[in-house]
Amino acid sequence: MKDKVGIPRGMFYYDYYILWENFFNNLGVEIVLSPETNKDILDKGVHACVDEACLPVKVFHGHVDYLKDRVDYIFIPKFISVYRREYCCPKHLGLPDMVRHSMKGLPELIKPKVDLKKSNRDMKRAIIHTGKYFNKSAGAAIKAFNKAQNRFQRYMESIRQGAMPIHGIKYDEYNPSQILLLGHSYNIYDRYINMGIVDKLRANDAGVITVEMLDTHTMRKHTSGLSKRIFWTHGQRIVGGAFALMDEGLIDGIIYISSFGCGMDSVLMELTERRAKKLGIPFTILTIDEQTGEAGINTRIEAFLDMLKWRSKDEDNLPTHGEYIHSR
Ligand code: SF4
Repeated sequence: MKDKVGIPRGMFYYDYYILWENFFNNLGVEIVLSPETNKDILDKGVHACVDEACLPVKVFHGHVDYLKDRVDYIFIPKFISVYRREYCCPKHLGLPDMVRHSMKGLPELIKPKVDLKKSNRDMKRAIIHTGKYFNKSAGAAIKAFNKAQNRFQRYMESIRQGAMPIHGIKYDEYNPSQILLLGHSYNIYDRYINMGIVDKLRANDAGVITVEMLDTHTMRKHTSGLSKRIFWTHGQRIVGGAFALMDEGLIDGIIYISSFGCGMDSVLMELTERRAKKLGIPFTILTIDEQTGEAGINTRIEAFLDMLKWRSKDEDNLPTHGEYIHSR
C-alpha cells in the first residue's frame, strides 16, 4: 500500500501546490489534500491555534486537523527564504513547530527546511530529506523534483498568460474596469476567507488581476527605486507587482486584502497606497479575521465599484485623496 501524505490547503499551498503534487506523484506517494476552507475547518483552526495568530495561520491549523487521522504524514515545509537575500514571514518559518505544539494526535510531520537566502544548495537538501521518508535515494528524489519543476514552470507560464492560480480561470481583458486584487496569495485565493471576492467582482463586470500574473523580473524592477530594499519575498511581489501595474496604467483600482494584525501588510499597504494616491488610482483595504462578516465586505465592494463607475462617467471630476475608502 502506498504511503499517504497530507497537504493542508493553506499558506504556501497557493504558491507551490502544483510543484509538490508532481514531486510526490513522481515519488510514487499518494497525496491527500484537505478540502477548500469551510466553516468547520475555520472553527477547528481557531480552536487549535493561539489567539494571537493571523487568520491564514489559524485556517492552516484547521486543514491540518482535517488531515491528521487520514494520512501517514503531513507535509509542512519550514519556509525561511525562497529567494536570494530575502526572507519569509517569521510565521512561515515557525509554522511546523506551531502546529506540532498546538495540536495533539498528529502523524509524523515532514518539515524540510527551505532556506535559499545564500544559495540553492539547501533546496537539494530539502528534497533529499523528503525523499528519505519514502526510502528514495538522493538521485531518485532529485530526479522526481526536477521533473516536477518543469511541470511547475509550465503552470507558472499559464498564470502569466492570465490564468488564476489553482482555479485556472482567465481574466477578461475586455472588462470595463480592471481591479488589482492585492495581498498574500493565501488571502487572495482562499475563497472562503475572502468570501468569494473574485466571483463578486466578476459578477459586477470587473476584471480581476493579481500580481502572480506578472513575471518576477518586472516586479523587482519596479521596487528598485525604493529608498530601502524590501527583504520579504511576498513583499517584493505585492509592492513590485502593484507598482508595475499602476505605472503602466493597466488598472482602474486596487483592493488590498489584509489579515488583521499582519505586520508585513501594514508596511506593504502604506507603500502601495502612497503610490496609488500619487497616481489618482482608487485604493481600498479589506481587513479580514475570523469575525469579519460577509455583509460588511459586500458593502465595501459595492461602494468601491460604484466609485469606479462614477469616475469613468465623469473623468474630469476625479475624487480627492479624502475620498479614498478605508474599511475594516
Ligand atoms: S505575512 Fe502576515 S498574514 Fe502572512 S503569515 Fe505572516 S503575519 Fe500572517
